[in-house]
Amino acid sequence: MRGNRKAYLDVSVSVCPHCGALYADASWYVITLGSDVECGTCGNDFNPKKSLSDRVLIQFDVDENGKVSAVRIADVLL
Ligand SMILES: [Zn+2]
Repeated sequence: MRGNRKAYLDVSVSVCPHCGALYADASWYVITLGSDVECGTCGNDFNPKKSLSDRVLIQFDVDENGKVSAVRIADVLL
């Protein structure tokens, strides 16, 4: 098969409620695991699932050599 193909990643964006630092992680990690994490900026623990600000499906256009040629938002899931 020639031409671009597509790959997807479901990403959740969360905000540290203590300092406002933003994080983007795979949604399976944030939503399914739902565990607390330590903020790398302020050092406080918070729950990314409870502090979710957005969730999007990222689309990667992949060329015939398996290299990513473009990235865009395919869908907004929140
Ligand atoms: Zn923080």
